[in-house]
Amino acid sequence: MQSKSILVVDDSSTIRKIIQRELSSEDYEVILAKNGMEALAMLEWADPLPDLISLDIDMPHMNGLELCAKIRAGADSDNEKKKLIAALPIIFVSANDNIENREKGYELEVIDFISKPFVPGKMLSTINNILNSREQFVGMSALIVEDSPFVTRIVRNILSRHGLKNIFEVADGAQALELVKEEKFAIDIIITDYIMPGVSGEELCRTLRGIEALEQVPIFFISSVTEKKTILSFFKSGASDYLPKPFIEEEFRARIVTHLRNRQYTKELELLNRKFQYQAEHDALTGVYNRGYFQTALSARFAHCRYTNEHLGCILIDLDYFKKVNDNHGHAYGDLVLKEFASILINLERTSDIAARYGGEEFVILLSGANLADCALIAEQIRSAAESLIYNDGTVELQVTVSVGVASLQENQANSPEKLVSMADEALYKAKEKGRNRVEVFGQ
Ligand code: GH3
Ligand code: MG
Ligand code: MG
Ligand code: MG
Repeated sequence: MQSKSILVVDDSSTIRKIIQRELSSEDYEVILAKNGMEALAMLEWADPLPDLISLDIDMPHMNGLELCAKIRAGADSDNEKKKLIAALPIIFVSANDNIENREKGYELEVIDFISKPFVPGKMLSTINNILNSREQFVGMSALIVEDSPFVTRIVRNILSRHGLKNIFEVADGAQALELVKEEKFAIDIIITDYIMPGVSGEELCRTLRGIEALEQVPIFFISSVTEKKTILSFFKSGASDYLPKPFIEEEFRARIVTHLRNRQYTKELELLNRKFQYQAEHDALTGVYNRGYFQTALSARFAHCRYTNEHLGCILIDLDYFKKVNDNHGHAYGDLVLKEFASILINLERTSDIAARYGGEEFVILLSGANLADCALIAEQIRSAAESLIYNDGTVELQVTVSVGVASLQENQANSPEKLVSMADEALYKAKEKGRNRVEVFGQ
């Protein structure tokens, strides 16, 4: 791998040398500039661009803040290279490390501050942290509830350095609740202050935990409160973590990464779970429910409808002469027919119906609240739709008809779920006997 390069801008040759020596010890390529003009010129001609820029604040002619602002302003230009330069990570290395400069720096999305004089290794570890161990959580989102813009900016910086793009910021608990109502499914971590006007952090936390979609979302308190009893109340209200203010950025970052990692893992598990559940209930080829799911649903609905006297109908469908389709055009073509025929069933409009693959080329539909006449009508719709569907794999065009049997729990007095299906099967057998491509109703 090519070594990473750092542009170091400092007016003191001694400092430039110290930084160069430290960074070179770990295979960084160091590019030196002694003032802002030189740095801008170097950036303009650099190919490839440096991976990070280190800026001194106090420099003659153009100070570090002005230089930083010039670099960031490139984001609005039409020049692609200037845009890339504007997005580079920047750190300040300065003896002038005060709150005012930090605020201005964070406004310009400066990632970190190193105070001069710095201990040996500090520069290296900071840059290593930024460039190498940046665990990315792309696609995740955060909510910051904090009334201090300064703290908000620090938190936002850390989160965006870890790849988070959707970062919502609100100044108090009431606004947080308002926002969560709209965005609750998109939030992966909540970082909240405790002392806020209006809804307190504790109250906010309790309310958030009551929302189903937010049950598993990490809620992280950062607060200047240090009283044991209050800290305990954070956790009792459902908080996942707590860090006293003022905090060391390093620690905050480490904790945030842990929470995001867990969150990511939980989300992956949830997704996997849903996928497995889907696979356990559906037929892989056609996408309709499988026989196992159908049996379970049948037992439950049968019991329910017998008790409430509601109608329950069963339609059994079998493709006609399907063996010939396989024999004449191959198994793959047979699969295509099954898949496309099933789409007729999936597109049936009644959402409470359960369409399933009952066997090889046999399908079944369970219809709640439909009497025998309704079921016969739907059966006829399916038969006719199948008849007019033309299968085509690009080579062979084919029509395949279906035979259909219909039965009803109430009207045919089926005394068990199995009996209901066997009545539909009996009607289906009759449809086959009478020449196929037709619907037969049990008992008629
Ligand atoms: P009938 O009109 O009397 O129903 O005749 P048929 O040929 O449709 O009935 P039969 O039961 O003799 O044949 C069904 C065929 O369905 C046999 C089997 O190989 C085929 N089959 C079952 N499952 C699949 C499948 O998943 N894919 C394919 N391509 N064929 C299948
Ligand atoms: Mg506060
Ligand atoms: Mg068949
Ligand atoms: Mg069959």
